[in-house]
Amino acid sequence: MTANFKTKACPPFKNEALYLYFTTMLGKKQFDTVIIGAGAAGLMCAAGVGQRGRRVLLLDHAPGPGKKILISGGGHCNFTNRSVAPTHFISQNPHFCKSALSRFGSADFIKLVEKYNIPYQEKKHGQLFCKRSARDILHLLLEECRKGDVEVKNTCAVDEISHDEKREMSFTLKTNLGVFKSKSLVIATGGLSFPKIGGTDFGYRVAKQFGLNIQPTQPALVALALDARNLQMIKGLSGISANVSVSCKGTHFLESMLFTHKGLSGPAILQISNYWHPGDEITINFLPDIHLSGLIVKWQKTRPKTTLKNLIAERLTKRLAEKWLALSAENKAVNQYSQKEIEAISDRFHLWQFIPSGTSGYRLAEVTLGGVDTNELSSKTFETKRVPGLYFIGEVVDVTGWLGGYNFQWAWSSGYCAGLYA
Ligand SMILES: Cc1cc2nc3c(=O)[nH]c(=O)nc-3n(C[C@H](O)[C@H](O)[C@H](O)COP(=O)(O)OP(=O)(O)OC[C@H]3O[C@@H](n4cnc5c(N)ncnc54)[C@H](O)[C@@H]3O)c2cc1C
Repeated sequence: MTANFKTKACPPFKNEALYLYFTTMLGKKQFDTVIIGAGAAGLMCAAGVGQRGRRVLLLDHAPGPGKKILISGGGHCNFTNRSVAPTHFISQNPHFCKSALSRFGSADFIKLVEKYNIPYQEKKHGQLFCKRSARDILHLLLEECRKGDVEVKNTCAVDEISHDEKREMSFTLKTNLGVFKSKSLVIATGGLSFPKIGGTDFGYRVAKQFGLNIQPTQPALVALALDARNLQMIKGLSGISANVSVSCKGTHFLESMLFTHKGLSGPAILQISNYWHPGDEITINFLPDIHLSGLIVKWQKTRPKTTLKNLIAERLTKRLAEKWLALSAENKAVNQYSQKEIEAISDRFHLWQFIPSGTSGYRLAEVTLGGVDTNELSSKTFETKRVPGLYFIGEVVDVTGWLGGYNFQWAWSSGYCAGLYA
């Protein structure tokens, strides 16, 4: 299914190395389109190009295609979201994603999933996951590639790309598996996140080689780290989660957050990390559904002898209530607090403001923010404006989705659109 799915051209070799050697020596060297990166976007694009009757080579330096698909969503791949809108994406140009999302949206991918009878389920916020395994999505994509007669080469490292616009076969790729020539070249090598399963800066290097602008990159959908002072504040809370409202520069999310040994994680933090830049302040409201000072005044009348810690613990985990209360006041019966103390306690729970010391980095980030500047690309075809025949799709482009299936949808949408033209 993976390395050897190109069954038609596969000679009867048991030894993979021998097989690769002979397919390279005897296989085609010239293609209409070469796609680098057999991830979500590259596979989607290859299927489309191949099904248009073009000769396509899809190559990847990893030993098998779709590695991120396989580990995504805890092995169940959150492949899209019921409601996908341009507002779920971050880019220097927020309008860029509109065309691709409208031409191939979540309903189109769901149709494909249903065509393959893949069982799936909806979780919160419209997130759609495979019921069985993420393998179902990879199988779908490989099957679509097979229908398009796509040639796939794994463990293929590109050493050099050259371009001669005067020739029909204008792109030449020198790789460890030989030299390949093509009319079009699609870069679908993703971002820098999760280097252990193939994330590299390759796409950005190619963009630089062709003089394209790149928006600064940083890890995103990632845990936030805290400095020593703030770590001291959350000491003992590791493993505790809370439903919070988290905000940064006017954007906010209502989601669950997790305290860790090194800082903060959980969906609320991953979501806000897409909007955070070093030096920005984050605000957390631990009790977003209530107005604590008003509630304390009410409790002073209705439950005067109960300790404030126990009352707040009805709304928050006890350990968190205790720790946060201790930061601004001692624990006593609720009727013993002055109005000034009540205001200070209320602020403490509603307004925790801090500047993260950083993130947990590309090693653990789900995606990369920034990338190839969208001004360099056609939003319809994903072809670069400066170099005819050169395309960039998927995560390598400066479009980053929220947590919840949006990043795969971007890979499908951009891959589909480029697949119509490349
Ligand atoms: C742990 C984890 C879980 C995730 N879960 C979800 C989820 O459930 N839902 C969701 O929407 N998004 C999820 N994402 C994000 C999603 O996986 C990516 O946004 C998406 O895979 C991007 O697709 P892509 O094709 O652009 O890049 P990728 O899928 O990363 O594919 C890029 C491909 O290019 C190859 N490549 C890289 N460099 C080279 C090179 N030099 N030469 C040859 N090949 C190269 C890589 O090996 C890889 O196969 C998750 C990410 C991670 C890390």
